[in-house]
Amino acid sequence: MSDCLFCKIMKGEISSDKVYEDDDVFAFNDIDPQSPVHVLIIPKKHIAYVADMEETDAELFGKLVLAANKIAKKLDVKEGSYRLVFNNGKLSGQVVFHVHLHLLANRAMHWPPG
Ligand code: 5GP
Ligand code: ZN
Repeated sequence: MSDCLFCKIMKGEISSDKVYEDDDVFAFNDIDPQSPVHVLIIPKKHIAYVADMEETDAELFGKLVLAANKIAKKLDVKEGSYRLVFNNGKLSGQVVFHVHLHLLANRAMHWPPG
């Protein structure tokens, strides 16, 4: 989508601090990190909401998690611990409407989340 912030980042039209890329997935550091490690992992295909996922996207969503695991390993996160978060919809806190998986690590996390 031409006016999507994360599509622009993925295409390099807006600069980002890239941490991972393959044929289907792109990942970059969050501009406003909520933990010492805070990476956003996105599908190159524009999908606005997790709720828009179709049967044919199942493998793609699996690839987001695989990429997260690779990145966590590459960054050697503390105690092998990390939190993966998808926000879906405004009430959940989603502000960018291109699916992204948050990878948060290197601080103690609390439950329930805020
Ligand atoms: P959401 O709240 O939609 O789940 O997460 C959106 C995330 O995108 C936020 O954590 C926010 O800091 C991040 N973000 C927003 N704009 C930019 C940007 O221009 N560059 C980068 N790297 N991250 C961004
Ligand atoms: Zn997009």
